Amino acid sequence: MKKTIFYTIIGMIAIAAICLSFLLNFRPHTPQLEDYRFHSDLDSNTGSLNVQFIGNTNILITDGKTSILTDGFFTRPSIRNVLWGEIEPDLDVIDYCLKKAGIHQLDAVIPVHSHFDHAMDSPIVAMKTGAKLIGSESTANIGKGLNFPEDKMIIVDSDETIQIGSMKVTLIKGKHWPYPDKELRNKLLDREITQPIIPPVSALEYLEGSSYTIIVEHENASMAIHGSAGFIPNILADNNVDILFLGIAGLETMDDLYNDCFQTHIVEALNPEVIIPIHWDDFFVPLKKGLKSRSLLEKLIQGMDVKKSFEFVEMRNPERTMAVLPLWKLVNVLELLEKVTL
Ligand SMILES: [Zn+2]
Repeated sequence: MKKTIFYTIIGMIAIAAICLSFLLNFRPHTPQLEDYRFHSDLDSNTGSLNVQFIGNTNILITDGKTSILTDGFFTRPSIRNVLWGEIEPDLDVIDYCLKKAGIHQLDAVIPVHSHFDHAMDSPIVAMKTGAKLIGSESTANIGKGLNFPEDKMIIVDSDETIQIGSMKVTLIKGKHWPYPDKELRNKLLDREITQPIIPPVSALEYLEGSSYTIIVEHENASMAIHGSAGFIPNILADNNVDILFLGIAGLETMDDLYNDCFQTHIVEALNPEVIIPIHWDDFFVPLKKGLKSRSLLEKLIQGMDVKKSFEFVEMRNPERTMAVLPLWKLVNVLELLEKVTL
């Protein structure tokens, strides 16, 4: 009898493990990821302006002389550690990703806001590449906890433009995507990190700080990186750009009215020729395994549905072109603009 109970329990645990593994690894098909995939005809970058997508909202912008990187989030801690454990930057993973991306030197690392999936690794990446760390007081406190030199931190005011080499960079304070979960919203949004964070710590220690739309102006092109799918009405209208890197995570969980306002106050306000969706990949998957869209588990728990978030953007932008950038590859901005706007 005891034996039967023992084997029943073992069997139930095995079935639960198989189900969990299926939910974590099955990813609903997102045809847009292939349909909009950008293919370059160039063998290598030409020395003019290039961009590289490195997952989540990591965007490298470089013209060979000046290089800036948003976020630099490479560690991608496990879902178990994010939900129930503690997290910290993984130096080996950061080294691997910098090498794979061909990044040796940077002028600035700029997190889009201070949640762990954007800013946790930023000070380490800035230290390894000799870059300045630019952002809010909250980002500075993540830097202080990692002994980032204070004279290399720049805490910016919203709308302040900084000249970084050949690029003009302006951070415009906006709003984060409002988590549907009220508890998470109250805990993580509209709150500053007021003390240095010394990891390992809970993921919940990484409070939002300020969420920015980052505008980068270069003689070859202008771009905006909008990391989180939130908006403040009417604050971006004077900032038309050629390319918009658009954080789409969470759009699919919002209603039609929210999406309508988001399109009006972010996409139409910035009026880009090209939209490059970002923040669509599952950041619990290590980058060395490539980019994967959200798992079925995230769909069931949080309503994450990459296909639906693409559709919201497609619906309101039939005249604009969308492009999905490949991982680890420098893409020539002029080629991108020419090819996709033909
Ligand atoms: Zn966030």
